[in-house]
Amino acid sequence: MTEKIKIDDELFIGGREFNIIAGPCAVEDEQQMDAIGKFLNRLGVKIIRGGAFKPRTSPKSFQGLGMEGLRILKDIGEKYDLKVISEVMDPRDVEKAYDYVDIYQIGSRNMQNFTLLKEMGKTDKPILLKRGMSSTIDEWIQASEYISMEGNDQIIFCERGIRTFEDYTRNTLDLISVPIIQSRTKYPIIVDPSHGTGRKDLILPASKAALAIGANGLMIEIHPKPEEALSDGLQSLNFSEFEDLYEEISRMEKALKMNG
Ligand code: PEP
Ligand code: MN
Repeated sequence: MTEKIKIDDELFIGGREFNIIAGPCAVEDEQQMDAIGKFLNRLGVKIIRGGAFKPRTSPKSFQGLGMEGLRILKDIGEKYDLKVISEVMDPRDVEKAYDYVDIYQIGSRNMQNFTLLKEMGKTDKPILLKRGMSSTIDEWIQASEYISMEGNDQIIFCERGIRTFEDYTRNTLDLISVPIIQSRTKYPIIVDPSHGTGRKDLILPASKAALAIGANGLMIEIHPKPEEALSDGLQSLNFSEFEDLYEEISRMEKALKMNG
């Protein structure tokens, strides 16, 4: 079994826990985040995600609200009793973001940004390390060693799909990495079916498969109005779609626990 990463006194990722993290691709404004925070709190979700520093392929796309986004995220987390996770891209922002996040995220494009890995490794907060989109499992594990060698042992891996010749989906979700990471390291691993598939209709089946293969949780993008989202609207679930998924996955999780 993987180690448990402590998020707070009552909340852990890893071990026998299965956590579902949800939130928008990007923090857009206070109103959007308030609606999402309220909804997640009602469902019983414990961790909200939201990008403030967005790694966009085009410099002309929405780049995120930066520190203002982190302020909104923290306020909403406090208001609705949610822990927050957000990506930091620049080593110079690690310290600035420290007071605003409960879990740092290292995005796919930065999995081998060794300066960033080392800088975060000096902090005492849990780190979600997403898989580089063109990285092998060994490279991913070695990236985690840049963090642990600085003294931070609170690592959570996140499988988010890799680039292959298959272009039906945005990425190819490599779920077999889940048991491999769990046997090769002591750390938990969660799955991001949103970036892993890029398509709303595939998020539920991919989530079920992730749970069945033994993942320690999921991270899913949601938006009150996906059609108006400033980023990743095509892969974002609306509230009722997410609620259905949450209930179905929770039922499946209970059934698996009863049998195991
Ligand atoms: C994200 O989770 O916000 C994100 C940008 O994903 P990735 O780094 O996996 O592309
Ligand atoms: Mn996204």
